[in-house]
Amino acid sequence: MTEDVGTIPRKPLTPTQRLKLFEAFQGRCVLCDRKIEAGEPWIDEHLRALGLGGSNEAENRGPAHKACADAKTHGRDGDLARIATTKRVKMRNLGIQHRKGPPIPGSEDSPWKRKMDGTFVRRSKRMRVSGSCA
Ligand SMILES: [Zn+2]
Repeated sequence: MTEDVGTIPRKPLTPTQRLKLFEAFQGRCVLCDRKIEAGEPWIDEHLRALGLGGSNEAENRGPAHKACADAKTHGRDGDLARIATTKRVKMRNLGIQHRKGPPIPGSEDSPWKRKMDGTFVRRSKRMRVSGSCA
């Protein structure tokens, strides 16, 4: 299965579904395999993130310590980072352009040219497309 950007909204479990899920995994965290102790915060984790094409089906869910889930989601190379990359690639493949940020000084798009000694000078006049003509 290739990684794809999902558009499925997160669907919360009912308390009964949560209990069932917890019992199905004997209370073990799907991320670290440690037992989730009473009182430890846990969430029903999507084994494959929704943003990466995972589903809301029970087989894609398991209990996880909140701390473990946060690391999986927000960590370096975590799901959010992978989702951002996957989304960027998909958009590029579909020909959807990201809005360009301000030009980097010294780059081709910038009105400033960097000289050999490291100072910046204004580029010689050239026609630039401007959004305002009021
Ligand atoms: Zn854990």
